[in-house]
Amino acid sequence: MSAKLLEGKPLAEGLKGSLKSEIEILKNKYSAAPSLSVIQLGDNPASSVYVNQQKKCADSLGIGYNIHKLSVDTKKEELFSLLDKLNNDKDVSGIIVQLPLPAHIDHKELILKIHPAKDVEGLHPENLGRLILGKPILTPCTALAAVELIKSTGVDLYGKEVVVVGHSEIVGKPVGLLLLNEFATITICHIGTSQKGCLKDHVKYADILIVAVGKAGLIKGDLIKEGAIVIDVGINKVENKIVGDVEFETASNVASYITPVPGGVGPLTVVMLMKNTLTAFKLQREICANQA
Ligand code: NAP
Repeated sequence: MSAKLLEGKPLAEGLKGSLKSEIEILKNKYSAAPSLSVIQLGDNPASSVYVNQQKKCADSLGIGYNIHKLSVDTKKEELFSLLDKLNNDKDVSGIIVQLPLPAHIDHKELILKIHPAKDVEGLHPENLGRLILGKPILTPCTALAAVELIKSTGVDLYGKEVVVVGHSEIVGKPVGLLLLNEFATITICHIGTSQKGCLKDHVKYADILIVAVGKAGLIKGDLIKEGAIVIDVGINKVENKIVGDVEFETASNVASYITPVPGGVGPLTVVMLMKNTLTAFKLQREICANQA
């Protein structure tokens, strides 16, 4: 292996240190602390693991954490009325609804019910619009984590060829926009690129490759440009092991930097959620001050 490992934990610890200090200062200033409300419908095991990680991280930073566990059969109206209540509760800084959702709840409709200033996942059209305008406030956490890892290498993003594989609203599109705002040259590949047999033609030009698909071993080392920075967002369970979308053994022979899975993007994503909760807390106090 020649690639350097881009681990999320050291960066996450550094960021937690600065968040903790800022939260202490704000607690003294406002006599209040940021607080995150999480809604979980049903009991998906992967989602419960993520909820526990969030709670642990929030507790360690002095961020309040409230989980609302609802039945998987909860009616849409009941869920939306809980969101209304949380939107109007001044002690709630951020709201997230854990995925996966039951089939009768439409994610896009649900996102519109969360107040943009409490949308700590950065998925409300107002927040995604700000990202397109180059003025982001609350941005999807996984995309922020991927960019933080890339920047930690010290790479100059200006004019770099970035290839993103996967075009979801949660990862692929926002990570592309964040790097576009840094004047990198962005190519976003998706299922159509793969089905036309063109994925390798794009991937081979990537100075920076970000893969967020959810297919184990989709990208093998022979597709990757020598010296590329490789960010593997994918999480896949294969024979009781967690692996990414990039074939780690072959990719790490050609890349200059590579994220491990697990241990790369994941640990930083949860801290970015806390950072967004802190941003939301400050934003709401600014809005209140402007209204006074
Ligand atoms: P998603 O919503 O399912 O999106 C996957 C994307 O990959 C879609 O744009 C899909 O295109 C595209 N795709 C599917 N097959 C493809 C192929 N053969 N070639 C190229 N593109 C293909 O998933 P997501 O939420 O973005 O998550 C992606 C992966 O990241 C998952 O493994 C997830 O578990 C992981 N993840 C990790 C973290 C973390 O913190 N580490 C956070 C979030 C997600 P179409 O929609 O057009 O089919």
